[in-house]
Amino acid sequence: MIPTKVRSHLVQNEGLIFERSSPGKKGYQLPELDVPEVDPVAALGAGNIRSTIEDFPEVSEVEVIRHFTRLSTWNYAIDLGMYPLGSCTMKYNPRINESVARIDGLAWAHPYQPESLSQGVMEITARLEEALLEITGLDAITLQPAAGAHGELTGILLVRAFLEAQGSPRKRILTPDSAHGTNPATAGIAGYEVQNIRSNDQGMIDLEELARAVDSDVAALMVTNPNTLGVFEENIMQAADILHAKGAMVYMDGANMNALVGIARPGDFGIDVMHLNLHKTFSTPHGGGGPGGGPVAVKKHLEPYLPVPRLKRVKDAFTWDYDQPQSIGRVRAFYGNFGVLVRALAYIYAHGGPGLRNATVDAVLNANYLRHRLRPYFDLPYDRPNMHEVVFSNDRQADKGVRTGDMAKRLIDYGFHPYTVSFPLIVHGALMIEPTETESKLELDQFVEAMIAIATEVDTEPQTVLKAPHMTRTTKVDEVTAARRPILRWRPA
Ligand SMILES: *Cc1c(COP(=O)(O)O)cnc(C)c1O
Repeated sequence: MIPTKVRSHLVQNEGLIFERSSPGKKGYQLPELDVPEVDPVAALGAGNIRSTIEDFPEVSEVEVIRHFTRLSTWNYAIDLGMYPLGSCTMKYNPRINESVARIDGLAWAHPYQPESLSQGVMEITARLEEALLEITGLDAITLQPAAGAHGELTGILLVRAFLEAQGSPRKRILTPDSAHGTNPATAGIAGYEVQNIRSNDQGMIDLEELARAVDSDVAALMVTNPNTLGVFEENIMQAADILHAKGAMVYMDGANMNALVGIARPGDFGIDVMHLNLHKTFSTPHGGGGPGGGPVAVKKHLEPYLPVPRLKRVKDAFTWDYDQPQSIGRVRAFYGNFGVLVRALAYIYAHGGPGLRNATVDAVLNANYLRHRLRPYFDLPYDRPNMHEVVFSNDRQADKGVRTGDMAKRLIDYGFHPYTVSFPLIVHGALMIEPTETESKLELDQFVEAMIAIATEVDTEPQTVLKAPHMTRTTKVDEVTAARRPILRWRPA
């Protein structure tokens, strides 16, 4: 028998910290001054000194600790259970990588440290570059970008610089209708018009439509592979040939590399430039707003345009090379989010080649297992073997007035984070599910049981689903009002 994941949530009641305040309470105690007292007004100027902070909560240490700990019990976390948020690769990140990133010499390395004292951290950087080039099959790489979308912009600026050097930056970028929203946004910010390419009924780029769209005004195709339907673009080499024949390039959004690492290398299937999401595929905790890493790898012809400085080995020492006249310049201060780079290298080395390949195979197996178990209950618009994620639609449940967002809320009552709702856009009412390789069969089965229970509820008691969640501290909120009229701070009555 499968153990039921959640009976009822432990939900701590907790008000606002202001409501605990009482005048004069404080959470610290300072020793007596053993240096001469300075008059703060004389030292800083009266205008820079605040004598009171309006409604500042005055609380003790234990009250602060308990307040935030209680609030944290309202949250879901990867350490509580599966986080099936498709496209996001919310996998469990081994703790050992956190320990490695916190080693004193790495955590305290300063970007202004002289090169002679930075050889170790520079070697880590060089080794990560080497490993990621092996994984992607490309020729050169920058580790500067801080996230996926930042990598996309960097990559498209490289394309632009290359084409400009040929005489014209060109005008348009093509994106399939299954593209991640950041792809057209990137193209727009880089100064390009965006043209949509329709997918065929198998969820892949329609090659004929692509051939019609590509002319000498097209700078690049931006393609996610596997795409956001979880479908591998089997015709990617033919697509690349179509673009290359007209002097255009192929940008790959590599946020879904969790489905490819150790199996297929983008450099081998025609990709000119791509980014990786270290905070998805390579073990940096993901969520809460960063930090992340979005390295950009390129073929040889784009290398001269990579951001400065580039890491070089001269004789036996590493050095930063700023002398790159064709470079697009810096895209970030210093050398990227170094702590994230350390985690990625630790993850890669701990797994080794066969281990990385195994992670990919397990991620794909887990997603196919979910497709197989859930397809009797949910509509599956692209019914074919998927890669690391699977996309259902709410068509069957919509007949009863229940939509993907309602079922996602109900999933919270069963102890799971919701799947991705209403994305990708080409699936109407999408349920996008990515289990990742880090979930066991037991956890997957619990998830399946929860989804089946919800599908049954939709048939027998749809109101239970429509009004969910029921077991959380805050139940269904009015999302429109919350977005249109957000109340972001407390004011005394
Ligand atoms: C997450 C994601 C991005 C954006 O990455 P960020 O690090 O959030 O900027 C781009 N494309 C795809 C397919 C993604 O899943």
